[in-house]
Amino acid sequence: MIKQIKIAIDGPASSGKSTVAKIIAKELGYTYLDTGAMYRCATLMALDNGWQESDLDLILAGLDRYPIRFERANDDTQLVFLDDVDVTHRIRENDVTNNVSWISAFPEVRAKLVEQQQTIASQGGIIMDGRDIGTVVLPDAELKIFLIASVDERAERRYKENVAKGIPTDLETLKAEIAARDYKDSNRKASPLKKAEDAIEFDTTGISISEVVKFILEKVAEILDKEVES
Ligand code: C5P
Repeated sequence: MIKQIKIAIDGPASSGKSTVAKIIAKELGYTYLDTGAMYRCATLMALDNGWQESDLDLILAGLDRYPIRFERANDDTQLVFLDDVDVTHRIRENDVTNNVSWISAFPEVRAKLVEQQQTIASQGGIIMDGRDIGTVVLPDAELKIFLIASVDERAERRYKENVAKGIPTDLETLKAEIAARDYKDSNRKASPLKKAEDAIEFDTTGISISEVVKFILEKVAEILDKEVES
């Protein structure tokens, strides 16, 4: 049987992580886990209930009570459910995006979600994207990639995505929001956005999705070849 590996993809907002991770998961027949969607679900739960930073106990109880679940849709896309409600599109809206960093800064929230992520990863070949996958969630991943890109390029990508989804967006505001979210994610105490020492950094500015996918698949093939040799 071909060995299945763990692949960790980390990087700042809109660096192309989820787009390439989904393609690679399909190509290899691996599970794809969008960990950002889990922090977004926790944020939506807090917003819907009017919970604030002083309501950590309520947020933690909510995470126990309302399960976060992924499902494959007929068109092969992934759907996200919070307490059995389809929140796939809702969690991409601006209010969730602009509040997610304070929720994800709580170590207690992270501990709960990381536990769920590690359980999913233990079930076979996995590609996971986020901020702390290579450093905390899957420190033993055979392949760790850290994707970066300029703020301008990332804002333009997100702008196009938002327009396609019908989410009203202003490009300059988006640039400021992306830079602010990067800053908060990189400077929090608990599991900040950071390149793992053994991760390969790849700057995707001006590089097409298919080239990034090709690069990662080549790395996977090298790892699997070594396994066969040894
Ligand atoms: O990847 P995405 O942009 O959807 O992530 C949303 C937010 O969730 C990030 O800005 C970050 O605050 C948080 N996050 C995290 N750790 C992860 C994935 C996401 O803290 N592994």
